[in-house]
Amino acid sequence: MVSFALHGVGVSGGIAIGRAQLVSHATLEVSHYTVPASRVDEEIARLGYAIDEVQKELTALHGTMTRSGEVPGEFGAFLDVHWMILNDPTLSEAPRKIIAEQRCNAEWALTQQMNVLIEQFEQIEDPYLRERKADVVQVVERVLKRLMGKPGSLPGAVAEERTIVVAHDLSPADVIGFKQHHFAAFLTDLGGVTSHTAIVARSLAVPAVVATHNARQMIHDGELLIVDGTNHVVIVNPDRAVLAEYRLKQSELELERQKLKRLRGKPAQTIDGHAVELHANIELPGDLAQVQEAGASGVGLFRSEFLYLNRIGLPGEDEQFEAYRAVAAGLAGKPVTIRTFDLGADKSHEGLAGLTRVAPNPALGLRAVRFCLAEPKLFLTQLRAILRASHYGRVRILIPMLASVAEVDATLAMIEQAKESLRERGEPFDESVPVGGMIEIPAAALAMGSFLDRLDFLSVGTNDLIQYTLAIDRADETVSHLYDPLHPAIIRLLSMAIGDAVRAKVPVAVCGEMAGETMFTRLLLGLGLRDFSMHPAHLPAVKQRVLTSDVSAIKPIVDRMRRTDSPAKLAALLDKINA
Ligand code: PEP
Ligand code: MG
Repeated sequence: MVSFALHGVGVSGGIAIGRAQLVSHATLEVSHYTVPASRVDEEIARLGYAIDEVQKELTALHGTMTRSGEVPGEFGAFLDVHWMILNDPTLSEAPRKIIAEQRCNAEWALTQQMNVLIEQFEQIEDPYLRERKADVVQVVERVLKRLMGKPGSLPGAVAEERTIVVAHDLSPADVIGFKQHHFAAFLTDLGGVTSHTAIVARSLAVPAVVATHNARQMIHDGELLIVDGTNHVVIVNPDRAVLAEYRLKQSELELERQKLKRLRGKPAQTIDGHAVELHANIELPGDLAQVQEAGASGVGLFRSEFLYLNRIGLPGEDEQFEAYRAVAAGLAGKPVTIRTFDLGADKSHEGLAGLTRVAPNPALGLRAVRFCLAEPKLFLTQLRAILRASHYGRVRILIPMLASVAEVDATLAMIEQAKESLRERGEPFDESVPVGGMIEIPAAALAMGSFLDRLDFLSVGTNDLIQYTLAIDRADETVSHLYDPLHPAIIRLLSMAIGDAVRAKVPVAVCGEMAGETMFTRLLLGLGLRDFSMHPAHLPAVKQRVLTSDVSAIKPIVDRMRRTDSPAKLAALLDKINA
């Protein structure tokens, strides 16, 4: 067997050794095989059964949505479109003919027909109708998932600790599904450093390498792999010497991890006595165990939109309330900062009205607070659920992606409206629940005044702040090499945002990936930051960094960093504070 190495971008550190399991999205990699003449009818029936099942799924969904009355009206229309596509003979009948004529499997016939339809849609001049091709793909995906067994062709029961997932691309929803399994590592052809897929990967605390370009093509099922997330490399079919070397490195890392665990109960304080809060980022209530294990000060970012992913139908007020209450109560007096839905861009739900159209530029489109304000019914449902949970613990509300004061005011008015309905219902909640905003658009960092006046706290989302400042799509691996937290513009914006908040005595945190990278801990301390929020897996290493930092020594160097535009000088000064 030929041994070779693949390079990508390590988005989650550590070393894993295991066997490759190739996975794909249903429509991406459908197998093609011939069906014996005697089994053609059976194959056609299999397709018919899958279509029937999806029909039932859509009907049930329509019923739930209509009854709950909590979802945008367009959602029903969107389901109707899917229903029509599914029942159109070009999709339900034509593939049956293809199976009979070509004696091929149902999945193949269906994707062949989908490709024909997509081509036809691409000829349509009307842009609205042209976009409906995305609906065709979604409907076909649903049927394929039924044909191939849920969930899509992603690994299910077969997954085990020594399995390394190899995929062309994975959505954040796919990766969140992995939380129930125990994979050793995963790698993808696509993906950027701060894509949500990478972020969720990090929360799984297993090594991950993205942007490998063609791993999916070059690796075969069952091949032995070493994934070194720290050094951005994957070794395929390693020889004995390499394997032995990596096994040794792996046990050294494990030893290091065990050592760091001993810091759990120790307060995070710098050498010169500055107390630092280390909070955790979570995606689902189930992540709480990791938060406790890491000894976090609380949850600094609960990405609530993950409750929306990987499911049919949307969570209603009670279901959301249960999820928020579980976290609030589970933290036993420690705070939880619940971010309102940051849906859109790479985190879209197939059932949400505004998100079903293919946005020309999703990262700049109807995302986060913009989407919430455009869907008041949905937003109010979430706000009521969060407020109700505030009765059971220390809850804070965080609004994502603010750009203007008008958005803050509109959101505060909605929170007031949600409070009013709870008062009318006689439901208890924390009347003075703190409301904060995320600083992740350069405009917000440049004009902090009105945010500082209106909000109780701020949290800087460096992932988006970097994406929008450097104009690099965080989910696009072709520009991921341009992601640069040390760009002079980023240092300046961070310095402004943190500095302005500190001067105004408004609590400020950083909750982007930068907060969990030890390379930047001292830079952020030097900029005045005392509150970090990161994936729990990173917390022990950041704490160790804090414990060995002396702000009085760092600050003068960071002041020089704030004033220079030279990348070389910045890199040298960063080395100096990290020495
Ligand atoms: C960020 O943008 O830095 C952030 C924390 O939010 P998210 O990564 O979920 O967009
Ligand atoms: Mg963000």
